[in-house]
Amino acid sequence: MPVNLTPKDVSAELAEFNSVLIASCPVCPPMCVAMQNDAPFIEFFKHGIKTEAFEAHIQSIRDLLTKRGVRTGVFSIHTPTPMMCLWTESQRRRFLKRAKDYDAVLVLACDSGTVSARDALEGTDCSVVQALQMDGVVNATTTIGFPLVVSMKPNMESPGPISGPPPTDHGEHTFTEQAG
Ligand code: SF4
Repeated sequence: MPVNLTPKDVSAELAEFNSVLIASCPVCPPMCVAMQNDAPFIEFFKHGIKTEAFEAHIQSIRDLLTKRGVRTGVFSIHTPTPMMCLWTESQRRRFLKRAKDYDAVLVLACDSGTVSARDALEGTDCSVVQALQMDGVVNATTTIGFPLVVSMKPNMESPGPISGPPPTDHGEHTFTEQAG
């Protein structure tokens, strides 16, 4: 059962960093962002297993950071477990290897995924900032259309309904534009 996640403004928390690695869980976050944007979760023949709305969200974060002169990178792993909350020791080591070149990690995952990131980076100077707000769990109806288009519609009786306003700019809830 996926957790319900909505982007939150972390501009102030990231202001002091010159380099940020965006670490994303490829399970609940893309599902939630797709539902919030009323967009497909998977369009296999266009984007493979990636969710276009979520990729656009990540890119908008990178664009806003780049405008501030921040170096960015992206990290996501699908094997052996795509769920960040269940990362193996080997996945944590791979993450540590990537993250140690950055001042901070921006986590696109729930509280539990963020715990995995903190655990992997324990004892380092790399800061961990969570960019998604966790708000219960979500129940949705999945439809699979032709050709391999997978969409999810949240149900009204969902324990944690998709309640956040759909972002018009995918990055607007993660960053506040700053003058200068
Ligand atoms: S880390 Fe959180 S967001 Fe990712 S699969 Fe686990 S519960 Fe879902």
